[in-house]
Amino acid sequence: MDVRAQIVMAFHLDKCIGCHTCSISCKNIWSDRKGTEYMWWNNVETKPGIGYPRGWENQERYHGGWVRDGNQVRLNSVNRGGTLFSLFFQPHLPEIEDYYEPFDFDYGNLMGAPDSDDQPVAAAFSQVSGERIEQIKGSANWDDDLSGSRRYAAKDPNLPDARLVEAYDTIFMQYLPRICNHCLHPSCMASCPSRALYKRGEDGVVLVDQNVCKGWRFCVTACPYKKVYFNWQSGKAEKCIFCYPRVESGQVNACAQSCVGRIRYVGVVLYDAEQVADALLKDDPDLVEAMRALILDPADPQVREAAAKNGVSEQWLRSAQQSPIYPLVKQFRVAFPLHPEFRTFPMTWYIPALSPVLSVYGETHRVLEHGMIPDPQLLRIPAGYQARLLAGGNRHLIEEALRKLFAMRVYLRGENLGKPADPEVLKKAGLDAEGARQLYKLFALTGYHDRHVIPPQVRESQGPEERKKGAGVGIIKKSRREKR
Ligand code: SF4
Ligand code: SF4
Repeated sequence: MDVRAQIVMAFHLDKCIGCHTCSISCKNIWSDRKGTEYMWWNNVETKPGIGYPRGWENQERYHGGWVRDGNQVRLNSVNRGGTLFSLFFQPHLPEIEDYYEPFDFDYGNLMGAPDSDDQPVAAAFSQVSGERIEQIKGSANWDDDLSGSRRYAAKDPNLPDARLVEAYDTIFMQYLPRICNHCLHPSCMASCPSRALYKRGEDGVVLVDQNVCKGWRFCVTACPYKKVYFNWQSGKAEKCIFCYPRVESGQVNACAQSCVGRIRYVGVVLYDAEQVADALLKDDPDLVEAMRALILDPADPQVREAAAKNGVSEQWLRSAQQSPIYPLVKQFRVAFPLHPEFRTFPMTWYIPALSPVLSVYGETHRVLEHGMIPDPQLLRIPAGYQARLLAGGNRHLIEEALRKLFAMRVYLRGENLGKPADPEVLKKAGLDAEGARQLYKLFALTGYHDRHVIPPQVRESQGPEERKKGAGVGIIKKSRREKR
């Protein structure tokens, strides 16, 4: 067992209200410089929709992630023969139309325009060329809240066309917040000829060394989530840094700290790095289970011993035990990775949204009062859609999670109203009363410090020797950059 620690974020999709506060707080802190205008390290998409950059999920076009090739995996973007050629030509990069030409408005004209019979306007201008833009044709949120429109929803690869045509008048909508997933098997890092990208040993955060990056942009193509951006001003790649300067001192990431819906959970997980190579070779529908199997029980003495041998500190082990992530991913099995079939093993996990049940059952309260668990196949958000988004197409896993989420609601609602629901409701969903209460607490009652369990790394209080050994900071192995 090669036990390592990874800091992870989970998102409860039912609670996201699409307010974009997370994106704005991230942007204000990390990407408000020249060359970063179009970079949204955190963005929130409306699904079904095309996302940002447009159509990022379509790997036929963008060639991101890994593909299985016999008994190994290889990068979808490059092969050995093609690397040299690709240094000078990257045919699968998103183009400016797939992002948008960054723009701002000439607000000064509203106050400073000379006297005229016409009302002054704040015209749009390009933040790259400074030229006026006559017509804005796109932005990071161009299809925000427009998932009922065929124009956008029909291009969502997770939605089968037939369903869209049938259900056009009842089309559903949900939000999908996205950051870099700080993957366990990051294709961005593997693709970089300069070795500028690295995964930190102590917490698994994936970073770009700005002094080493040569601007080849292999990483932009290779990341299937399109979460590496090219800074046109500096000529270097940039990406979400998981707010490491905050996290190192035990503070919560800016996006999670500011999240209005309180949908985000942050915590440490322990995983077995030895099993990653085998897990990568599973079939698409088996990938979620393979990823779950990598994550280890932080209360298991053997796991703790192996982690400690690798330099994971007692403070981090304690934190892994208190983390909200382990119960969500492993204990209750209600959290899923985004597009596991890209095989980067993303370390952000999503709790699927429940649909409004009114359209199917008429009156929600009747469903709840009678303790009926709606059939996930009849839900307005098709289980198949969520399965394609979050489970490599395995709808059984999604249905299992949705049943638990419904049963927990039905049971707790009954309990709170003094009309306890039949425990059979829970049993059918694979839960018991204690589990339901625990889930309810996690979703509805947890406070700030229960949702975000981040151990400080206290680097500043350590001498060079302690840092080298990794004592107290959870350093597991020297990262690739530290070895150089
Ligand atoms: S999401 Fe993309 S940029 Fe982030 S670690 Fe994974 S492959 Fe790299
Ligand atoms: S701040 Fe929270 S609720 Fe608002 S869009 Fe972001 S993730 Fe969703």
